[in-house]
Amino acid sequence: MTRIRLYNTKTRAKEDVAPIDPANVRMYVCGPTVYDRAHLGNARPVIVFDVLFRLLRHVYGPEHVTYVRNFTDVDDKINAEAQRRKALGDPRSLEELIRERTEETIGWYHADMDALGALRPTLEPRATDYIGQMIGMIAGLIRSGHAYAKDGHVLFRVRSYAEYGRLSGRSVDDMIAGARVEVAPFKEDPMDFVLWKPSDADLPGWESPWGRGRPGWHIECSAMSEELLGTSFDIHGGGIDLQFPHHENEIAQSRCAHPEADFAKVWMHNEMLQVEGKKMSKSLGNFFTVRDLLDKGIPGEVIRFVFLQTHYSKPMDWTEEKARAAEATLRKWRGLVADTEPAPSPAPSVIAALADDLNTAGAIAELHGLAGAGDRAALKRSAEAVGLLTDELSRWEWQPRIVAATGRAEGRSTARGVGESRFDCMDRIAQKLADARTSALRSKDFTEVDRIKSILVSAGVEVRMSKEGVQLLPSSNFDPAKLEALE
Ligand SMILES: [Zn+2]
Repeated sequence: MTRIRLYNTKTRAKEDVAPIDPANVRMYVCGPTVYDRAHLGNARPVIVFDVLFRLLRHVYGPEHVTYVRNFTDVDDKINAEAQRRKALGDPRSLEELIRERTEETIGWYHADMDALGALRPTLEPRATDYIGQMIGMIAGLIRSGHAYAKDGHVLFRVRSYAEYGRLSGRSVDDMIAGARVEVAPFKEDPMDFVLWKPSDADLPGWESPWGRGRPGWHIECSAMSEELLGTSFDIHGGGIDLQFPHHENEIAQSRCAHPEADFAKVWMHNEMLQVEGKKMSKSLGNFFTVRDLLDKGIPGEVIRFVFLQTHYSKPMDWTEEKARAAEATLRKWRGLVADTEPAPSPAPSVIAALADDLNTAGAIAELHGLAGAGDRAALKRSAEAVGLLTDELSRWEWQPRIVAATGRAEGRSTARGVGESRFDCMDRIAQKLADARTSALRSKDFTEVDRIKSILVSAGVEVRMSKEGVQLLPSSNFDPAKLEALE
């Protein structure tokens, strides 16, 4: 069996993964707070842990891996957005507006992450479905002296957990000196953090032994991971920005609630994302969402490829130059594997790279080698192991070429409307051809298929048909006017 090695933030060493139960390898990754579109930085943990999920499934079997990623659907930012809508005169209740906002955002999140070729996790719990478990955990922490209630708040007593700060390598006194803590009259100690807080009438709230209120953010992950994965599980992941205080607090809560258990054995943290060498920020004007890129005509597969070129533990720089190069490579590879049956299993060299602390850059180098050697079946199957060249992501291939044919290849961001309408038109024609082909295969009469094909060819569109579907590849002399006969 492949030996997977991962860098464990907790021990600061690369370790062999030895699952607690190889028949059920368990991974928890902190998911999004659902109040807005995911920005490009949010996509990094999704792609990193998707590759790990795929690797674990490859090694232990797809049915032997449980991947949990939560949705935080109770949060001050969500409340603020619902209150804003209410203030604008929306007649619905705050609860309805909050529900609408979170449902909408979860839908966007799924669509955007699907477009990046990320598999859905095994379970995607929503925090508001686990309030009872959170209340139970908090009550237990009060009983054991690790937490206390004051003025409708419940706080975790940080000094009651001697190992606090070990994950991030900080001492409690350094943290106080760093002044990243809030002093409040209901706290015994400035380091103590909120497990439960009171809700006013105009905020969502649940009844609890400490009055109507809502949970703090950190307790959500502790309660959901315990409920769904148990008190000890294999891997906990998330962005490096969550290491302190969020992960430190998760550990304190879970270890104090269950001193006999390990909580997570391996902690993995992905580094942050930059854009053209700068931190992404609204003030620098280089802030954008995954959807912004997709709408500009940059395929999700291209975004994924760019991300995989940088090791997860290194800061990653998103550049347009990288996206262009990635698109050219993928176009070439997709051409190579177009009518190829994938090999039965990925190339051992690709799996070896991934098993070495998720060396995705090394895996891509191996894919280049397979492409160079013309080993198309191995290329297809090995690329699929990192979520590239999959059938699900194949539809993009001709889309940018259609936009390119409008003469605006460099300025795709400005050609959005044009690109989309042409895309829709080609989409319809591709569907029409696919339908005609399906009935022709039954009737053995290919007249309609040939008619559509010859119109496409005369309009400068290359037609590829396989059992996976129809691909239309407009060439540089593509003339959309000639397609009118098909509309
Ligand atoms: Zn978390």
